[in-house]
Amino acid sequence: MRDMQISTTPNPAPVPDERLAEILAAPGFGTHFTDHMVTVEWTPEQGWHDARVTPYGPLSMDPATAVLHYAQEIFEGMKAYRHDDGSVWTFRPEENAERMVRSSQRLALPVLPTEDFVAAVDALVAVDERWVPDATGEKSLYLRPFMFASEVFLGVRPAQHVTFMVIASPAGAYFKGGVQPVSLWLTEEYTRAGRGGMGAAKTGGNYASSLVAQQEAIAHGCDQVVFLDAEHGRYVEELGGMNLYFVHRDGHISTPATGTILEGITRASIIELAQKAGHQVEERRFSIDEWRDGVTSGEITEIFACGTAAVVTPVGALRWDGGEVPATTGGSPVALAVRQALVDLQYGRADDTFGWMHRV
Ligand code: PMP
Repeated sequence: MRDMQISTTPNPAPVPDERLAEILAAPGFGTHFTDHMVTVEWTPEQGWHDARVTPYGPLSMDPATAVLHYAQEIFEGMKAYRHDDGSVWTFRPEENAERMVRSSQRLALPVLPTEDFVAAVDALVAVDERWVPDATGEKSLYLRPFMFASEVFLGVRPAQHVTFMVIASPAGAYFKGGVQPVSLWLTEEYTRAGRGGMGAAKTGGNYASSLVAQQEAIAHGCDQVVFLDAEHGRYVEELGGMNLYFVHRDGHISTPATGTILEGITRASIIELAQKAGHQVEERRFSIDEWRDGVTSGEITEIFACGTAAVVTPVGALRWDGGEVPATTGGSPVALAVRQALVDLQYGRADDTFGWMHRV
């Protein structure tokens, strides 16, 4: 980024190796942060300016800051991986940058150019490099770029002062004891996105509205909630934080079409990887009846979900009030192969034939 001012913390946390090991072994995610953060400001007059890396710390906010009232906010989620030779890489950061551009257009926020997004993320990873865990296990440094309405103003209109930031949090392996299927709860009451809504944008409001449905899933003993489309209440959209895939008996794969779902970077990558592995992949509407009947008849041989956090996870049983579709039987060969291909790329153990890895 042009003119990035870097002021590093005078008191970096002591012995990061030991602290890192502790943090990575602890359950949960997103509670510990690295020593620094990136901040960039925007106004209509100055455009993006005052880019800086500073010690990590709390923000002081006026109670009338617009984001606290109208939720004009977007974010991204991505990871930095350490390779066996010690080098540090991010995975397709331009894709996250472009998704943030699309989100900003939907939320009436200013566009941050792709190269500035990537430079901001690189600057934080570079200064906090020692927080990127080693290459053993599936550890990584989770990166959270976000942008919010920082204008102090209670009128309802797009903010005239916007702040972009990047913070980072070390992440242990999502599956600490080996990959496990996730059990799903089908919510019949709540939807995530409607036509013309914000479903395709990565904005806090979508997650706020999903919490009660996710709570319902947990209350019923399930790991994740499945959302159906708002218009027909029939077509499968996605999970609270992952996209879905259905593997058919003849080897072809279906994944719900986009428009109201969040287009995952993992989703897009899996489409290409699966095609390269010889699977035909179709993006189309996929009904809940097709799920139930397909599993019952054996037409659907495997279901899996994907996202930055878990990479790829097999899907187990689907339950709803008064019913259930059992898990497919016969293991998860396609999910596990796709997963391995992706993880091998991210950790530099396979040739990057797609050119997806970005060295920091
Ligand atoms: N859908 C939703 C609603 C999500 O929050 C995420 C996580 N970002 C995904 C799908 C998967 O996206 P990605 O592969 O980019 O992590």
